[in-house]
Formats: sequence, structure tokens, C-alpha cells
Amino acid sequence: MSATLIERPAPGPAAAATLAPRRRTRVFALPEARWAAAATALFLLALPLRLTGAPAWTWGPLYALAYATGGWEPAWAGLQALRERTLDVDLLMIVAALGAAAVGQLTDGALLIVIFATSGALEALATARTADSVRGLLDLAPATATRLLDGGTEESVPTGLLAVGDTVLVRPGERIGADGRVLDGTSEVDQATITGEPLPVAKQAGDEVFAGTLNGTGALRIEVDRDAADSVIARIVAMVEEAAGTKAPTQLFVEKVEQRYSIGMVLATLVVFAVPLAFGAAFTGSLLRAMTFMIVASPCAVVLATMPPLLSAIANAGRHGVLVKSAVVMERLGQVDAVALDKTGTLTEGTPRVTDLHPLPGAALTEDALLALAAAAEHPSEHPLARAVVEAARTRGLPLAPAADFVATPGVGVTATVDGRAVAVGAPARLLPGAAHAVHPAHAADPAAEYAAVVARELEEGGRTAVLVRADGRPVGVLGIADRLRPDAAATVTALTALTGSAPLLLTGDNPRAAARLAADVGITDVRAGLLPQDKVAAVREYEAAGRKVLVIGDGVNDAPALAAAHAGIAMGRAGSDLALETADAVIVRDELATVPAVVALSRRARGFVVQNLAIAALFISGLVVWDLVATLPLPLGVLGHEGSTVLVGLNGLRLLRESAWK
Ligand code: ADP
Ligand code: MG
Repeated sequence: MSATLIERPAPGPAAAATLAPRRRTRVFALPEARWAAAATALFLLALPLRLTGAPAWTWGPLYALAYATGGWEPAWAGLQALRERTLDVDLLMIVAALGAAAVGQLTDGALLIVIFATSGALEALATARTADSVRGLLDLAPATATRLLDGGTEESVPTGLLAVGDTVLVRPGERIGADGRVLDGTSEVDQATITGEPLPVAKQAGDEVFAGTLNGTGALRIEVDRDAADSVIARIVAMVEEAAGTKAPTQLFVEKVEQRYSIGMVLATLVVFAVPLAFGAAFTGSLLRAMTFMIVASPCAVVLATMPPLLSAIANAGRHGVLVKSAVVMERLGQVDAVALDKTGTLTEGTPRVTDLHPLPGAALTEDALLALAAAAEHPSEHPLARAVVEAARTRGLPLAPAADFVATPGVGVTATVDGRAVAVGAPARLLPGAAHAVHPAHAADPAAEYAAVVARELEEGGRTAVLVRADGRPVGVLGIADRLRPDAAATVTALTALTGSAPLLLTGDNPRAAARLAADVGITDVRAGLLPQDKVAAVREYEAAGRKVLVIGDGVNDAPALAAAHAGIAMGRAGSDLALETADAVIVRDELATVPAVVALSRRARGFVVQNLAIAALFISGLVVWDLVATLPLPLGVLGHEGSTVLVGLNGLRLLRESAWK
């Protein structure tokens, strides 16, 4: 390694290059916008000619071209849809414009086409900008990074080619090229791209850094710990894009209703046209009124009411480190009225430390030998307690014997063969004889077992998690492990209580004493301890049977079934097991529990916007329809009202993209 590199970083041409502004879709990059502009220009050329009474051959072709440029795309799409037996509302717009033209109202028809095409372009722009704000995140990951080779030589490589284990030099002001861990150097890193947090975070050896975040004034040497495709930022983008492909239940409902509504609307249009005609009204007037009716009654705004608010909310949550996997989930999160929290790794930091070592008399083990035996058996496990045991053995420099026949039983512990001995490490309540569901029932009056039970009880009363170590069927020692509450645990419990109207429930596999003590510290009174994974599911089912909608928050393999059974499940992403991440509906990327109430509130806001949008749409449609039927609504005014409300609803939904929509 080369210390001089760290002290004298090269000044930053690299920094300048990586600070290029985000790519934003320009209006005229969109074909919709180009066609709309052409139609508008033709219309503006034709209109004065027509109004000043110029001969028809001057404005006629211009109008025809305006119809064609503005209308061919929706007409074509509408015809395609008809072949699949669905009625596209866009097609109705074109029919209305042609209808107007047929009765000599060329200008009104052209105006309809122009406004329709323009609002279509605006919609496309809004969609593209939402996509930009997500993809912009990916652009922030630099294209190249400086890899350090063993001899200390530097080479510049595309970030996509960095491998786990590579050492990368991050210069001051440079964007970090990969997710990794700091080897040496100190700096402040602006992580706003991932966390939304404006304040830079101090980094030193051992800390985690993320691709796409901006390094401050120090230089860092980092070891890559995730491939580019698995980086937090790449996962955010993938999930948001995936979510955009899903449809929320409200949207599915709207689309189902839309079809029937559209067909009913066409029939109603025929009635609006035919009835006055039968009573002797003029043909032209009747047709115009019917065309206006068809335009203003179209459910365009209704269709646009649901998805933009939900997708904007997903993008916003993603920026704050909560990956919501689909629009369905975004809708569901706000519906929950009960919350169940896991303890170890969720309410606590999940980086527990071994605090006590108690070899049992008669086992003839030193503290170190006990720890080494337990650590050897725990080594393959990803459980937070297992990591604590292994870490403690490492700190003491103990060599770990290889483990064979490793089996992990969620909520219970692990078993393995170490040095020819059958070792079990886990919950005393499950491993000691006489315990309910004991894995290895033995003779009741085993003095070693009784002694172990007393030690375990004492540790638990002190708020520790007791872990029993058994060798060849006999208890040989008890470890005391202490975990810390997350700093934001109490505030989160308070916020969730306020949001759902009842205090969260604690579901844990740990012992009742330690669980109750910790629960009291954060304001939870409803504690269910000593649970196996299926017991957690049963607790969720019990609540759901009582008509509650439960949100489960967990991290472990033992939480996965409950995460799947719940109305909505959120996994802790940093420490969480892969199974929990897969099963959950949403993932908290940085382990900040406080983002849970924030995302629930965001979901409620999104649902509020959906309702608001549906109301705006209904109000405009019914108002304009009544106007058209009772009095005579001029066609251009009908067009303006209809398109105006559609654009209004679309833009309203995008408001959740804004930073202030969070919290
Ligand atoms: P929680 O539900 O609070 O996250 P778990 O269900 O993961 O806790 O664990 C419950 C209990 O099972 C732990 O308190 C511990 O006693 C025991 N246990 C599970 N796995 C292990 C392991 N790998 N090593 C030691 N003990 C374990
Ligand atoms: Mg857990």
C-alpha cells in the first residue's frame, strides 16, 4: 500500500467530470412533442387565413395536415386497441374531431386535435421526467474508478468491471464508484443521492460507503464489497423500474370500470345526438353537441388519477432509502392499522456483543475454549447472535475449528460437528432438558442443566440474551450477549403508535425477560416472546382474523414467513438476511427504523392524492356534461375543460416527487 497516495491526492479533473448535471429529457426529444408542435404550427398558420376569409385552397390543406400530424398517432393506437376489443378513449377524441369537421366546424375540430396532442405531449414529458429522476441516480455512479493493484500501482477501470475484494482509491471530490468498506483514510461523504440526507457523513476505516455518493475533502481507500449490479443504488433503480410495471388495485379497478364506462359513453353519445334530432333539432347543432358530450364525458382524467401519485411516492421513498417493490405495496402501506416488530436486528442494532462467558463446572473448559467451540459451530450462521460469537472469538485471536453437518433452526439455534463433538448453540429454553419443545430432552435432574438454567435466568434478568452451548448432549457453558436498542427505536414506536392508533406489538424468539425489559424502554407493552417462526405467523393471522391490517418489520430468516403473511412486510436491508429481503414487500436500505413511519405516512399521502384526483376528475366530467346537456357548451371550451382537468390531475400526482412530501 502506498501512504503517499492518501496524503497527496491528485487534484480533481475527475471531480469536475463526475459533477456533470443530471440528464433531463428535453421536450423535443419526445416524438409526441414534435408532432404536437407541428400540429400547433399548422393550426396557427391556417387560422388567420380562415378568419380573414381567404380562399379554401389556402387553409384547407393546412387544416388537413394539422389533423394528420396531431391525430395519426392516437388514431393508430386506438385502432390497434380496437383489434384487441378494447375501446381506447383517445380514439373517441379523434372521432369527435372528425365529427366536428364533418359538419363544417373545421376550426373547432383542429383546435381539439391541437390541444389533445399538446396535453398528450405534456403527459409524456411528465412520465419521462419521473423516469429521469430515478435514472438520474444511476448516472451519478461514475463510469470509471481508480483500482489499486498489489504493488500500489493505479489503474483506471470501468466501474462495471470492479470485482468484490478490489481495492479502490477515491480522491477528494470524486464520486465513489462502488459499494464498499473503508480500508483507510478519513473523509466526509455526501450521501444525499442514497439517503436524501443533506449533511455529509464522516467516514473512517471500517465504515461503509456507497456507489454514487460524493466524497468530500479527504481521500479514501476502499475495498469493494458488492458488484456494480448489486450496489444499493442499482437496486433502488431496478426496484423503482420494476414497481412502475405493476398496477395498484385501484388502477386495476379503474381500468375495468373504464371499459364499461367508455362503451356506455358511446351509447349515450348516440342518444344525445338522436333524441334532439327526433324532436326536430338541426342536424349540425345536434352532432356538435353530441361530439362535445363525448369529449367532456371521456374518463381521461380518471385513468390518470392513480398511478402518478403512487409512482412518485415510490421514487421519493427510494431516494430516502426505502425500496418499495410495487405500486400495490405503496397503496397497502398506508392501509395498515397494526404493526408487529421483531426484536433482534430490528428494534435492536443487530450487532450484539458477547458480554459474559460462563463455562459450567464439570465441563472442564476455559472461557476461551468455550468461546472457540461456540464460534466454530456458529461460523456458518448469518444470525446476529452468531456473528457476535464469531466476532468475540476473533477479537481474542482464537483459532476456529472447521464445522461439519451445520444445521440452523430459526428461532432455536444451530447444531454442528466440531472436532468430532456434536455441538449445539442456541436458546436455553429450547436446548435445556425439560424445556417446552426441547430439541434434546434428557434426564430431568441433570445438575449441569439446572446450573445452566440458573445462570441463563440471571443473565436474562439483567437484560442479556443467554445462549446455551451444548457438547455431546450435555450443557457446557452459557454466553451472555447484549444488544443495543437502535437510537431511533423509541421515536419510531411513538410515531407508529400515533399513525395506527395502537402501540406496536413485539414478536421475538428471544426470552420473555430480556424482551419485556427492552420493550418497556421503548413503550411497547404487548410482547410475545419465545416464538418460533410459525408462531410469528400465527400472531399475524390472529390480528388479521380480527380485521386488522398488519405491517410486519423484521430482519431474519425467522421473520420471513411472517413478512410474507402480513398485509405488508418491511425488511431491514443492511443487516437483513437475503430471505427476509426477498420475502418483504419493501426494504429499508440503510438501517433507519424511523423511515418506517415516514413511508407509511407517505403512502397515506399518496392515497390522499388518488382520492383528490378522482374527485377532481369526477367534478370536471359531471360539471361539463351537465353544462353540455342543459345549455350549449361550445366545443372549444369543452375541449379546454376536459384537457385542462386531465393535465391538472397528472401534475397533481407528481407533487409527491418533491422533497417536502417526505415526513
Ligand atoms: P428475534 O425474533 O428477536 O429476531 P430469533 O428468533 O432470531 O430472535 O432468535 C430467537 C432466539 O433463538 C435467540 O434469542 C437465541 O436464543 C436463539 N438463536 C437463534 N439462532 C441462534 C444462533 N445462531 N445462535 C445462538 N442462538 C440462536
Ligand atoms: Mg431478528
